[in-house]
Amino acid sequence: SESSLVSTLHRLDGRGYGGYKQLRGTHDVGGYRLAVDHVQTDPFAPPSKMRLLIDREDAGFPAELLITADQRVAVGDFLAREVAAGIRRAGVGIAGKGSGGLSIGTPGQQVLDRTSIRFTESTLEARFEVALPAAGRKALGRQAARLLTEDLPQLADETLRFSAVDAQALTDHVIGYVDRLALQSRLAERGLVAFVGDGAVLPRRSGDSDRPLDTDATAFTSPESLRVSIELPSGRTVTGMGVPAGITLIVGGGYHGKSTLLRAIERGVYPHRPGDGREWVLTRDDAVAVRAEDGRSVAAADISPFISGLPSGTDTTSFTTTNASGSTSQATNLVEAWETGSRLLLIDEDTSATNFMIRDDRMRALIPDEREPITPFVERIRALYEEHGISTVMVVGGSGAFFDVADQVIALESYVPRDVTDRAREIAGIEAPASAQPLERPRTPRAPTSSSLNPGSKRKAASAAGRAAMRYGRETIDLSAVSQLVDPAQTQAVAHTLDRIARQADGHRSVIELVDEVMEILDDDGPGGGLEAISPHHGHPGHLARPRRQEILAALNRYRGLEIC
Ligand code: ADP
Ligand code: MG
Repeated sequence: SESSLVSTLHRLDGRGYGGYKQLRGTHDVGGYRLAVDHVQTDPFAPPSKMRLLIDREDAGFPAELLITADQRVAVGDFLAREVAAGIRRAGVGIAGKGSGGLSIGTPGQQVLDRTSIRFTESTLEARFEVALPAAGRKALGRQAARLLTEDLPQLADETLRFSAVDAQALTDHVIGYVDRLALQSRLAERGLVAFVGDGAVLPRRSGDSDRPLDTDATAFTSPESLRVSIELPSGRTVTGMGVPAGITLIVGGGYHGKSTLLRAIERGVYPHRPGDGREWVLTRDDAVAVRAEDGRSVAAADISPFISGLPSGTDTTSFTTTNASGSTSQATNLVEAWETGSRLLLIDEDTSATNFMIRDDRMRALIPDEREPITPFVERIRALYEEHGISTVMVVGGSGAFFDVADQVIALESYVPRDVTDRAREIAGIEAPASAQPLERPRTPRAPTSSSLNPGSKRKAASAAGRAAMRYGRETIDLSAVSQLVDPAQTQAVAHTLDRIARQADGHRSVIELVDEVMEILDDDGPGGGLEAISPHHGHPGHLARPRRQEILAALNRYRGLEIC
């Protein structure tokens, strides 16, 4: 009961930190139940894990907002943000190592399926990480009692009850999310790969912030020739630029907003929160940003469509290296995206290897084709589309070489897009894009060995180290170039999926089969599926957010220990 929790904590005050482990179990706090699933062993260990349980009836959220899994994701996202804001207001966040405080995770600009808030049949669960307060190695029991029996229930009163939240904002959040998913799923039937709504604000506040630029942003306006209107489930119609399937170039002078537009399209695989500026930027959910990433490791990738006949005699149908070059890394990233089944590649000249992209006539005159291992992307891009249905949206400011193969050319001038397809064709002296050379699908499948995924040196579960890195056994998997992995909670979920894949790998199952098994679990919205099911923990699953299959494979492919049968 509550009074016994308080008296336990008061008794622990000033004693050894280890005493906190008595808290495990379920307690009543301020009309809620508090399930303490995991207690940290010392003040510097990862925080303790607790769930606050509320009767759904008590919480009072209308059933019609919680019917579908998508609606529950949106309500969960809304409430997690409310709780996070409540924690900030009350000043009860986790300030640093050793300080006491609460966290429900920190949702960013994307609206993702996450484990912070969960609706079951009868309860609403809020999952907290709780840093139990300490002075040196001593428990501050009285302070912990205030945190758990006063601050926490008050926070729940203010944020986790329908009567306490802005009902209109909540309803709009849910409707908006469902509309955005609908728009995304309707792109294909309209022959589109991406949509950028009129009025969108694409630039970000700074290079290290995903928040919108608040002053002086030029709102997006679609060129008339590409303008489409799409009706949404709510009855609302949005108008903007539809990017058709095929090959689309984004051109324009330096600093005119090309990369910003491409970056928004890249992030458009996820719906964004209201106020982000990119609410109506949606992209096919299988789109993959493909860039050069020299130094990455590669295990048995078939890059032969792009690179063959290396001077070393290396077999590029099964290319393995611990240190890829610019061009081989970009070729690898491309064929791996292809292997995941992606139908849209996003490429920016700023992060591309020039020799992978193009080769001009002077260079051909100097270095004959038979002595050049690289078939540049410009010669493959149409076959990718015509034979394999893979579209490309690409930023090119420095070369007209792609004019011959483009279906659309969009020019940005001071952030304003214009359709310049006709003019680009005139310059190239063509009426329609050149047709394709035949192109074979890279050799798949690749089956990882069990021993390489389960090395003796791997004694602990894989774990995220922020958004862009993961510890896997003795290795660190570098994910800094995996730009569509957007949230540390996604990285943690990817870590769990890799542990599961490691258990399933048998030298026969391909990377695709292995990831498909994981996706089946994630896609199951029943009680035994979803993110909860990939967590190794009982009760509180940890702060996880749903990753795409593309990012799971990206992490697996970048594991330096990976061996393919
Ligand atoms: P490019 O790739 O064409 O060189 P960028 O996309 O990198 O250009 O953009 C250059 C600068 O302009 C960036 O600082 C970016 O934030 C800013 N910017 C981009 N789009 C807009 C916009 N619509 N309104 C205001 N500033 C923008
Ligand atoms: Mg740029």
